[in-house]
Amino acid sequence: MSAPTRFDRGHTDDLMSFLAASPTPYHAVANVAERLEKAGFRQVAETDAWDSEGPSGAASGSGGRYVLRGGAIVAWYVPEGAAPHTPYRIIGAHTDSPNLRVKPLPDTGAHGWRQVAVEIYGGPLLNSWLDRDLGLAGRLTLRDGGEVLVDVDRPLLRVPQLAIHLDRTVTSDGLKLDKQRHLQPVWGLGDDVREGDLIAFLEEEAGLPAGSVTGWDLMAYPVEAPAYLGRDRELVAGPRMDNLLSVHAGTAALAAAATAAASGAPLTHIPVLAAFDHEENGSQSDTGADGPLLGSVLERSVFARGGSYEDRARSFAGTVCLSSDTGHAVHPNYAERHDPTHHPRINGGPILKVNVNNRYATDGSGRAVFAAACERAGVPFQTFVSHNSMPCGTTIGPITAARHGIKTVDIGVAILSMHSVRELCGADDPFLLANALMGFLEG
Ligand code: ZN
Repeated sequence: MSAPTRFDRGHTDDLMSFLAASPTPYHAVANVAERLEKAGFRQVAETDAWDSEGPSGAASGSGGRYVLRGGAIVAWYVPEGAAPHTPYRIIGAHTDSPNLRVKPLPDTGAHGWRQVAVEIYGGPLLNSWLDRDLGLAGRLTLRDGGEVLVDVDRPLLRVPQLAIHLDRTVTSDGLKLDKQRHLQPVWGLGDDVREGDLIAFLEEEAGLPAGSVTGWDLMAYPVEAPAYLGRDRELVAGPRMDNLLSVHAGTAALAAAATAAASGAPLTHIPVLAAFDHEENGSQSDTGADGPLLGSVLERSVFARGGSYEDRARSFAGTVCLSSDTGHAVHPNYAERHDPTHHPRINGGPILKVNVNNRYATDGSGRAVFAAACERAGVPFQTFVSHNSMPCGTTIGPITAARHGIKTVDIGVAILSMHSVRELCGADDPFLLANALMGFLEG
């Protein structure tokens, strides 16, 4: 196979910037939108009419558009001459990562410490959150209904681990963390803890008038920047690769497909990026893959192109989704946890994920779709299947397939330390994935 040429290590440098600039799903989708705007995409509001007579820049006619809703984004590019029944090619991914999220009454503390009360979001490797310098970011909702993103990007919080001298059995019995008692970060000193302190602090940080914030969705994150690692810098360490790595690759592939189509490359389908929130807690929300967001956008696009329910059915029947998420590379210290003949390697190319019990949506015909995309892009790919004695994880692929009746293939990139506050991937795999996604959107 020829070496991929479109995306290279520059893509990985850019991924590292994207990770650092996207501490929350809200920031991630804002960054995706900004990148798509540069490629000519325009935002459409779900509350506007998407009729086929709409003005230029509205939801009808050819061109790139996107819908933003909370921590989710759906973007699509209608090529010149697309019919109402033209099928979609969708890249699916998720924007959320396991982390520590601020509770409704966040101000707490004891023994002269100021602390922030947090809930555990999803399934983080809790130990990895100890003794990290943590920033705080998220979305503030204002009295007038407006929303402001906030990011205190400096060491602000820490969950201090108990000293070994006070936890003598930690080495022999393992670390035991109580989710309620042991993970509340400290953020300073003081005996006069008052309700409203944290939000008042964030209003000041965001340059907002005191008392203007009436709602918040805030989460802690590690402030340490992503970094190349290894003898030949062949690895990347960083936060939230699960699954911003796929969101970033999907954004690059969609922008490239739109740019190529705008300059005359023929497209027989409509390329789509669907990046959902709430995968890490089951996808059941208005911005999750198990909600109506994707189906509603695709249907409204059919109808905006003048289509009927019949056109919608024809379009969906011909649609394919590549659902991209991280998977497990073989770990040198725990190789026996993998199936003996399926050992995905770092920098070996994207992985096709298979599970016959539908924890992944891939089947043999889906494999053929992915193989064709990789061949077109000149990218090698690997396969992942669980050890029969290990429960298999899952992702948005099977949900997308079942909810919308869309043929779906689960793929991704193999990493180590999944759900750690700082994960580890290969420096080549992100651009190999982006090239494969580009091959899929072109196919
Ligand atoms: Zn994931």
